[in-house]
Amino acid sequence: MSKLPHDDIKPFTGEGSKKEQVSEMFDRIAPRYDFMNRFLSVGIDRIWRRKAIRFFKKDKPIHLLDVATGTADMAIMAAKILSPAKITGIDISEGMLKIGRKKIEKENLGTKIVLSGGDGETINFPPDTFDGVMVAFGVRNFEHLEKGLQEILRVMKPGAQLVVVEFSKPRIPGVKGLYNFYMGVVAPQLAKWFNQNKKAYQYLNESAKAFPDRRHFVSILNKTGYSNTYYQSLSLGICCIYSARKPVAPNAY
Ligand code: SAM
Repeated sequence: MSKLPHDDIKPFTGEGSKKEQVSEMFDRIAPRYDFMNRFLSVGIDRIWRRKAIRFFKKDKPIHLLDVATGTADMAIMAAKILSPAKITGIDISEGMLKIGRKKIEKENLGTKIVLSGGDGETINFPPDTFDGVMVAFGVRNFEHLEKGLQEILRVMKPGAQLVVVEFSKPRIPGVKGLYNFYMGVVAPQLAKWFNQNKKAYQYLNESAKAFPDRRHFVSILNKTGYSNTYYQSLSLGICCIYSARKPVAPNAY
């Protein structure tokens, strides 16, 4: 399993593995995470999430896994759109999960969505468990991207779909310049004004820049063993939805 340059992008310069630093950073920003998401994306993130969840419509999944569930935005939206019997959300930040659990309770979805502490790179479930897996803005934070993708593949049922939502780098010259200015200067500064961790938003920019997007990410999915890989670029290339399936073994039936 090869290490990718993005695996080494950490939130802080000090001690600690990427995983430790990422969970510490999200613990810190958790109370204002949802507000900052809506504010910095002008609400577009909800459109991206809805689009990604609709990828599962035809599959009618019964048990979904939301890896890096954070404050459970995807899990809650998926419960409403897809009505699966169960959604399991895992995350390495207890601070994010705490906010997510409160939201689930408020929405009366406690019987459907269960959140627990868990690492997407060593998923605590047996092989072939889930009918579908989603990861929104999570894979960019993995310490070992390929290991995480392998683990996800392991817990998917044959034929199940993985849907990933992640930032990508716009290529249209004017859009690219504006995006770089917004992500590199405006967003960290706004975060500072809102008393948020400026470093967290600098990390967002650096990790998004280093992340293998579009065809590169699709090639990693293929290499990991997924089939039917596909990506859809959104909002002039700022974001991408990726879809991939666990192959059904030829002698399975
Ligand atoms: N999916 C949520 C959303 O769409 O708002 C949260 C996204 S947030 C940008 C990234 C989340 O990934 C954080 O909550 C972080 O703790 C989590 N995370 C990072 N690495 C992880 C890992 N290896 N396993 C599980 N969660 C992880």
